[in-house]
Parts: sequence; structure tokens; C-alpha cells
Amino acid sequence: MTAAGGAAPVAAGLFTNPDAEGAIRLLGQRCRACGACFFPGGRMSCIRCFGTELETVELDGAGKVECLTVVRQAPKGYYGPLPYAIGSVVLGADVRVLAQLVGRAPEAWRCGDAVAACVFELPRARDGGDPALCYGFRPSASAAERTAAERSR
Ligand SMILES: [Zn+2]
Repeated sequence: MTAAGGAAPVAAGLFTNPDAEGAIRLLGQRCRACGACFFPGGRMSCIRCFGTELETVELDGAGKVECLTVVRQAPKGYYGPLPYAIGSVVLGADVRVLAQLVGRAPEAWRCGDAVAACVFELPRARDGGDPALCYGFRPSASAAERTAAERSR
């Protein structure tokens, strides 16, 4: 699979093929016994009831930032730009995903911001090399409209 300039996904099975604007749906798992959904998938049993009948599902593309922090020091193996924002995003009913928040300055993010799942490229090595396509969240259209409305006041 190639997309967004030919970069390959950081791992297989995490998200759908990005559209022309880089929008994706994350691929999670749903438990047939209790209905719990979670991300990432690839589990053998449910995180709530330990049921083993799990199916792969496309999670909601839209969500809300529950909480976030700004990372100023690179963790081991991270070669992307600093600082960056990372947030816990709630998708749909009760699926929480920890991912990078992109598309605006790290300090500009707020809890409650509306977001949409997207892909972005990160270098795989200190000297660059082929980037990896990673999942993250960017401001959704409604969030962009709200910011514009706040500025015009
Ligand atoms: Zn379950």
C-alpha cells in the first residue's frame, strides 16, 4: 500500500487507505459478546470480558480530545519534529486512542477540541530515510470553523 507521497504505513492493519486529503479510519476490534471496542486491534481476547470472538471494525473517524500534553524531548526512536502534542482522543461511544495531534501549533490544542483521524509522515531514522505513515488526529472542519469564529470576535 502506498499513499501520501509513497510512504508506507508504520505497521499493517492499523488504518484504512488514506483518501486524497489524508483522512483515514482507524481499524479496531469489537467484541461480539459484550460489544466493547478497542484500538489497536490484534488482540486474542476482549479487554473487558475476555471473550475471544473479536471482529475488525472501522472506528469513527471523528472524535474529541479528552486530555493532552506537549512533548518537548524526543522519546527513544522518535526522529520527528519537536515539540509535538499527544492526546487521548475519544472516538464514538467509548474508544480511547492515544496519538499525536497535528495540524496546529502544539500549544494551541485544548481539551474538548473536535478532531478527525488522519495520516502524517514521520522519519524512521535520525538521518531521515524513508518516512513512515503514522496515524494521528487533526482539527476537524467544525473545530477550524470555531477557531475562525473566535478570532473574528
Ligand atoms: Zn467483551
